Amino acid sequence: MIHFLANWRRYSFGWRFLWGVAIACCFAVRTPALDDDLAAQLPSLGQHVLPETLSQWVVEDTVEDYFAEIKPSPLGYLIWSEFPVKVYRSAPDPQATAATLDRQKQWQASVDQAIADWSPFIPMVIVNDAETADIVIERKAPPVQRMVNPETGAVEFSLSRNGLTTYHFYLDFDNVLRHKMLITLSPHQGAIATETTARHELGHALGIWGHSLDEQNLLHYSQTSQDKSITDDDIYTLKKIYQQPTRLGRKMPSATSTNSD
Ligand SMILES: [Zn+2]
Repeated sequence: MIHFLANWRRYSFGWRFLWGVAIACCFAVRTPALDDDLAAQLPSLGQHVLPETLSQWVVEDTVEDYFAEIKPSPLGYLIWSEFPVKVYRSAPDPQATAATLDRQKQWQASVDQAIADWSPFIPMVIVNDAETADIVIERKAPPVQRMVNPETGAVEFSLSRNGLTTYHFYLDFDNVLRHKMLITLSPHQGAIATETTARHELGHALGIWGHSLDEQNLLHYSQTSQDKSITDDDIYTLKKIYQQPTRLGRKMPSATSTNSD
């Protein structure tokens, strides 16, 4: 475990890979477990203040959550605690041909609409630097083949062709444990499908790490090219998630720094 933390500290800045990569959206997810020794060296589990945007949201009687389907990460629920959440998305390539540039601009407009749709619930801001962003949305077809996670040895199968969300953890300059989300979003869909896929994947990136069994909901597990909006059930689930404990956004206990080799 000491070895683990020594490695961890080496990667304690910026957009570096650590461990605990997991993948949502139509994946058989196997998240690594946290053993007691390691857990003792990490920040304790705690709740963050519920964002005002969610605390003000009133739940109607008819709304049902699907919180039971949501999986916490090894470090707790994937909750953002600093707002606005910074989102980077691939910029159009000025060197591209006119037709390609048009498609890339359309992709960006669809992504921006998806960000705007979630922002009333979790405030987000678009930034131009992928390095410092919390969520990175890449204009790239996600891999579809069987993959072996090099850190955990877990084998994961993608059934999704159009969108994929992964996360990793890092320590920031202030020794706070943080996560970063990467969304890989296909450039090969039409405007409506791109927007719906972006909206669905952003739901994962904002913390809904699981799928609804109700096909009306945006976070239903099936992929669709239809226009699908955020439902009250999605928001109610998000609100419940943000009331859960997590180690993310919390400072490492200072005693652990003396244990490295
Ligand atoms: Zn999904």
